[in-house]
Amino acid sequence: MFDNLSDRLGSVFDKLKGRGALSEQDVRDAMREVRIALLEADVALPVVRRFIDAVTEKAIGQDVLRSVTPGQQVVKIVNDELIEMLGGEEPATLNLDAKPPVVIMMVGLQGSGKTTSTAKIAKLLKEKHGKKALMASLDVNRPAAQEQLAVLGQQASVATLPIIAGQQPVDIARRAMESARLQSADVLLLDTAGRLHVDEALMAEMKAVAGVSTPTEVLLVVDSLTGQDAVNVAKSFTDEVPLTGVVLTRMDGDARGGAALSMRFVTGKPIKFAGTGEKLDAIEAFDAKRVAGRILG
Ligand code: GDP
Repeated sequence: MFDNLSDRLGSVFDKLKGRGALSEQDVRDAMREVRIALLEADVALPVVRRFIDAVTEKAIGQDVLRSVTPGQQVVKIVNDELIEMLGGEEPATLNLDAKPPVVIMMVGLQGSGKTTSTAKIAKLLKEKHGKKALMASLDVNRPAAQEQLAVLGQQASVATLPIIAGQQPVDIARRAMESARLQSADVLLLDTAGRLHVDEALMAEMKAVAGVSTPTEVLLVVDSLTGQDAVNVAKSFTDEVPLTGVVLTRMDGDARGGAALSMRFVTGKPIKFAGTGEKLDAIEAFDAKRVAGRILG
């Protein structure tokens, strides 16, 4: 995960740490290299600027350069700013305190990993939080999307709403709510339809579904491999639906990290989960501290 970025930053900081004394110019030179590394990792420009300014100001403004280990102090400042950039010290959690069934609505473009993430989160809630979950697919556009969720449900041992051919998304959502209540499910996960692009019909459908299901969480699933596109997709969704967080998939294959590092600042939404593989266990609650630690090796 983020290997390219990690290697690039590692070589900049090894140079800094190896020196007994640092001048202001040394810090500025290092930050120039960090800036290039972040841009090559596809981090959004305003985020890079803010990061470099914050680190430079702290590194030069305090007593860092006069300390015994200035290089290590600079790396610590970078670590703290990375954590901030990724969403802060406190890991983002799901709000599960509402009256059950708590509705989690999953939204996103086709192929982002939405259906897989729905099943992963249901499994996690069941196994790690002891929650009884029900999943329902509202995707009537993609052939076999509903069957795909049913198969994943079987694999995860999580119930799925029986499929009624021809039923439309809002009606499926209503039926899912009713079924979740009857089964005394703690959590209902709604896997909404994806599209190839953000379009009006998709947004209208999501709003209608949200209208009948009043979700506590609306999670946008985006593919980290698409870098800034993932962030732009998140921005367009944010303008239309009240997102409560982001699920970033395919982090296992992401050598760059641009989506993860830009998401919070550009969209204002926390990354709540990271998908780290195809298997149903391959999901992690997103922890900025741990991810920053991985980036800095
Ligand atoms: P949807 O169209 O958004 O519902 O996408 P799917 O859930 O069907 O996922 C598309 C493909 O991406 C599937 O082959 C998944 O196994 C794969 N996938 C989803 N999440 C991840 C992930 O975090 N890592 C990897 N490596 N593959 C993933």
